[in-house]
Amino acid sequence: MRAMVLEAPQRPLVPRDLPRPDPAPGQALISVEACAVCRTDLHLLDDELDDIPYPIVPGHQIVGTVVESNAAPLAPGTRVGVPWLGSTCGHCLFCERGSENLCDAARYTGYTLPGGYADYLTADHRYCFALQSDDEAVLMAPLLCAGLIGYRALRMCGDGQRIGLYGFGAAAHILAQVLRHQGRAFYAFTRPGDEEAQRSALTLGAAWAGGSDERPPQSLDAAILFAPVGELVPAGLAAVRKGGIVVCGGIHMSPIPRFDYGLLWGERVLRSVANLTRQDGVEFLALARKIPVETQVEVFELERANEALLRLRSGAITGSAVLRVGGE
Ligand SMILES: [Zn+2]
Ligand SMILES: [Zn+2]
Repeated sequence: MRAMVLEAPQRPLVPRDLPRPDPAPGQALISVEACAVCRTDLHLLDDELDDIPYPIVPGHQIVGTVVESNAAPLAPGTRVGVPWLGSTCGHCLFCERGSENLCDAARYTGYTLPGGYADYLTADHRYCFALQSDDEAVLMAPLLCAGLIGYRALRMCGDGQRIGLYGFGAAAHILAQVLRHQGRAFYAFTRPGDEEAQRSALTLGAAWAGGSDERPPQSLDAAILFAPVGELVPAGLAAVRKGGIVVCGGIHMSPIPRFDYGLLWGERVLRSVANLTRQDGVEFLALARKIPVETQVEVFELERANEALLRLRSGAITGSAVLRVGGE
């Protein structure tokens, strides 16, 4: 099977011909239709995550079809989404209290487990989501991380009505539709001068759009930082009211500059959001169908994964970059 492989730190992916994997007990063999590209994939390329087990096949926003199953609930022909959370231990402190996203022994698709930048992958059926949709795979793939992590980050914002979104890319363009559906206002912060992203945010219903160096016209109830830029932490804190919440949505962030305690004072809350639980996935995928969320995608063939990653890095992607692998 074809696969795009990360073989060493800070190297482009290399096309390889790998043997098709066999599903172990409890696993399904999945034919990948599409796999969306996530900023986490760039952090993997840049060796910014711990203990990367080279060589790896990245990709954790996968839509595919079960072709062989060693897991009774997933019959061949079932359409599934495979997310970042690939397995958990089920018995650590975190798993036991419903925070499997923090499991000490979790394994992650496209990082410590094989990912979707390939024709096939095997996955533990208990962590796959059955997709009740015949939508195009390339349109659904971004829901599986960009959509999910945005949804989880929004839950951390409580019932805030004015939400700031720093970084208007894959996650924000989906979350914007959730916020509108819920009748909440969102304020989009882009790279300074990125008028295209600001226009895109306004088209999706932003109450305001501007550069991340600007202050919003009203103070916000909460802000979510999707861009992995430490300078945005003090900026976000300055934009929220007393008691407001700032959520860091990325798996990696550049160092946070020193800032004055006055920015945190007034019971402002600064927190991160990590990974996903299966419950997040079930809830979000149902909500996305109900709204329905319409993703904007830029599609690349599997072999062009490096180009997709480069364009994501440079900020050139509107919406989400997605690799078309097989299927349609
Ligand atoms: Zn655990
Ligand atoms: Zn991701």
